[in-house]
Amino acid sequence: MPSRRPLVAGNWKMNGLRASTAQLEAIVRGCGPLRADVELMVCPPATLIAAFAAAAKGSRVGIGGQDCHREPSGAFTGDLSAEMLADAGARAVIVGHSERRTHHRETDADVRAKVLAARRAGLLGILCIGETQAERASGKTLAIVERQLAQSVPDGATPDNLVIAYEPVWAIGTGLTPTTTDVEEVHSMIRERLADRFGPPGEAMRVLYGGSVKPDNAPELLSVPGVDGALVGGASLKAEDFLGIAAAYT
Ligand code: PEP
Repeated sequence: MPSRRPLVAGNWKMNGLRASTAQLEAIVRGCGPLRADVELMVCPPATLIAAFAAAAKGSRVGIGGQDCHREPSGAFTGDLSAEMLADAGARAVIVGHSERRTHHRETDADVRAKVLAARRAGLLGILCIGETQAERASGKTLAIVERQLAQSVPDGATPDNLVIAYEPVWAIGTGLTPTTTDVEEVHSMIRERLADRFGPPGEAMRVLYGGSVKPDNAPELLSVPGVDGALVGGASLKAEDFLGIAAAYT
């Protein structure tokens, strides 16, 4: 069984102004006592990537974007390419977050193209997949997640260019979380599919859990077999909470 380095990534969504650099600085200062193998990633709005990358330089805290366009450049007003994020200092980019799939109608094919764009720019893609409440209620969770995985993950994915984040849509920002049995069931299916498709690289690819992870539930959620870390929304905005989640790895 390959050992997978835990990753705790924060998705700041559309939150944060320059003054928020103080929170990032507190994360950088406070991560010293964390277990040495725990990797941290903070994904602020694109306006803060360069400042955050400068503030986190030389630390174990990487900086990431929250979305990218599939093309490297061109007439796409308002969009940002993966190359631009990398140029600003990002090491990773979240793609296929449910808020993008819902509000921007991103399909699995769109998301797959963004994973490829991230790879082209040398960024680690953090690919989000997960079922809605209605899909879970009708017993379709595994089928939906399996389809998203098959259709959003391109050939050639490796642990160095891709991380999967299983995020039940109904658990995002709601305070609700699946049972540990449910999390384990989905993660184990994802792992089987990755291993079937990619062999040893699929065994080594990290699969995070996301959805209402907080310092108090992190020890339980992060100890579920097959969970290699967390993608954290709301609780990543405060350094103390974000570090509290990462401290679940003792
Ligand atoms: C997210 O937006 O990816 C997320 C998991 O949010 P929250 O932690 O707030 O549920």
